[in-house]
Amino acid sequence: MRTGELGFWWRSVGGEPPPRPPLAGPTEADVAIVGAGFTGLWTAYYLKRARPSLRVLVLEAEQAGFGASGRNGGWVSGFFSGPPRAYARGGAVAPYEAMQRAMFATVPEIAAVAAEHAIDADLVLGGNLTVALDRAQLVRLREEIEAARGLGLGEEDLRELGAAELSARVRVAGALGASFSPHVARVHPVKLLLGLAALVEQLGVEIYERTPVTELAAHRARTAQGEVVARWVVRATEGYTTSLPGLRRALVPMNSSMIVTEPLGESSWQQIGWQSSETIGDGAHVYAYLQRTADGRIAIGGRGVPYRYGSRTDGRGATAASTVRGLQAKLAAMFPAARDAEVAHAWSGVLGVPRDWCPSVVADPATGLAHAGGYVGEGVAAANLAGRTLRDLLLGEQTELTELPWVGRREKRWEPEPLRWAEINAVYALYRRADSAERRTGRPSRLGSIVDALSGRA
Ligand SMILES: Cc1cc2nc3c(=O)[nH]c(=O)nc-3n(C[C@H](O)[C@H](O)[C@H](O)COP(=O)(O)OP(=O)(O)OC[C@H]3O[C@@H](n4cnc5c(N)ncnc54)[C@H](O)[C@@H]3O)c2cc1C
Repeated sequence: MRTGELGFWWRSVGGEPPPRPPLAGPTEADVAIVGAGFTGLWTAYYLKRARPSLRVLVLEAEQAGFGASGRNGGWVSGFFSGPPRAYARGGAVAPYEAMQRAMFATVPEIAAVAAEHAIDADLVLGGNLTVALDRAQLVRLREEIEAARGLGLGEEDLRELGAAELSARVRVAGALGASFSPHVARVHPVKLLLGLAALVEQLGVEIYERTPVTELAAHRARTAQGEVVARWVVRATEGYTTSLPGLRRALVPMNSSMIVTEPLGESSWQQIGWQSSETIGDGAHVYAYLQRTADGRIAIGGRGVPYRYGSRTDGRGATAASTVRGLQAKLAAMFPAARDAEVAHAWSGVLGVPRDWCPSVVADPATGLAHAGGYVGEGVAAANLAGRTLRDLLLGEQTELTELPWVGRREKRWEPEPLRWAEINAVYALYRRADSAERRTGRPSRLGSIVDALSGRA
């Protein structure tokens, strides 16, 4: 088994491409984007498409796709993080509904851009199944479906599948039922990322790698090679934001870890089903997320070590043996036919988590500073919507996108250490305890709801 090395997705495309050159010296631009993940690259793409004459630079500390964008579970999800009430202005749910519809529309938008530019990223619009692995999860899934109805989502957006209907699609051991939504696609994240990076370069965007930005100031991004002065400076640094001066409490880096199996044999797939490549998750508080890869493997992820003291980020994703064992056990429990599958690779990455679990898009014309992120574990699609929204904000256009409730949100700051460390670890310890109580009793744990409320997650 390989571990780290930025993960399996890179290995499966033959490794990392040769690095692009760093910034040569001080310069000026219309827009300087810091971070070449999905947020930075989609922002560059939409800006350049709208105004080809703009000089758009991307400054990347390592290499395009080094962060979560090159290491994720490949769910292009039309859902987004944060409790609906956080987006419902003055009690009205219309802004939340508008945001939800915009996110649903983002999934086919990504598929359309990939198709238009012949980016082959193994994208399949198969939908998502959230499976209930015990009675408590089933109760919660039903409550979530009912709550979704109150927020304007119909049967065609999210519906319950009985155990028989579920097993006609995929046979998950012990599953009592599931919810299904068509608004999720499966993707190979690195193929999408590399295709997008090449595309923006064709449009004339300059990407500088090995160019860490050391400080942001009004209309300025500072690097060791000199300063970039720009009308707009866009921060797209997500889980790595804490390394920038003045931003230590903006977003915390939380870890997520994954393993991928060697390709399963035909007889295993016959036992499992899963022919439509839906993404699959379970309904636990500390949930797992899975995809069937285009080459017949199962990739499964979940929370390993949730958080490192002082918001430290890891380097290239080396993953603890205990985390690998935990993910293997989860995979074997859900799919006994995959119990003996070799693990080909294990890796980890960091997500950016805001204090209130809600992502934001912000642009301040007075300072020329803009940023987007805080997607928690749901940024692959949201980064595309953020990119289109930043395009409109930076071009000074008022559109449906600039009216969405995540634009210009007032962001709460995280507590300083050691409180932050204690709090995040307590939250995950309590969620694990709630999950095991639910497995025992079959009833939703009150502890889980209390932790949801205290952490701000629901
Ligand atoms: C293991 C894992 C599984 C996940 N699974 C899913 C999933 O299935 N679906 C989903 O929707 N989301 C998932 N996520 C989250 C998702 O990957 C992220 O929300 C999304 O990729 C964020 O994109 P981004 O461009 O904002 O940030 P990133 O991709 O993290 O990019 C930030 C970039 O900024 C660069 N950078 C940082 N600081 C500086 C600096 N000072 N100067 C210059 N450059 C800098 C970094 O090197 C990095 O390349 C997962 C995340 C992880 C870690």
